[in-house]
Amino acid sequence: MMTCKQASKLISQSLDRPLSWSELMRLKLHLMICNACSRFKKQLNLLRVALHNIRTNIENDSAITLPLAAKARIIDQIEADQQSQ
Ligand SMILES: [Zn+2]
Repeated sequence: MMTCKQASKLISQSLDRPLSWSELMRLKLHLMICNACSRFKKQLNLLRVALHNIRTNIENDSAITLPLAAKARIIDQIEADQQSQ
């Protein structure tokens, strides 16, 4: 049986790459019996959507009058955070 540590690692990786069939099956099995990892997966997905929305808003909202350099720094930071997950 997969440990929570292995499961959370796979959940994080699944945001960046497609999981193999066997990884997916082992992860699904773990998620069926583990509430903590199911919650972690949900929260990670919500966070990803939220970060995407923030990024889109910053890029598109003309009411945000940050200097372009500041906008670019914020977007860079969001991307760096996403990659470090
Ligand atoms: Zn777990």
